[in-house]
Amino acid sequence: MGMQEFGDDGPGNEEDKVFKDFECPDCSADNPYDDGFSVGDEVRCFYCGAEFKVRMQGGKLRFKSI
Ligand SMILES: [Zn+2]
Repeated sequence: MGMQEFGDDGPGNEEDKVFKDFECPDCSADNPYDDGFSVGDEVRCFYCGAEFKVRMQGGKLRFKSI
């Protein structure tokens, strides 16, 4: 008891999702993140070294330069 199941289309689910990789907005490199990251975390591109804050906007991941 206490846990609630939401449908696949339920709003807000994406915010709790753990992502395993991201594409760098600066250099388009694919960065695998074995530890995973979620909205609100900070990620760093392994290729160009740029750091981004992970945000969710309109149901899509956005990376804001730090
Ligand atoms: Zn990069």
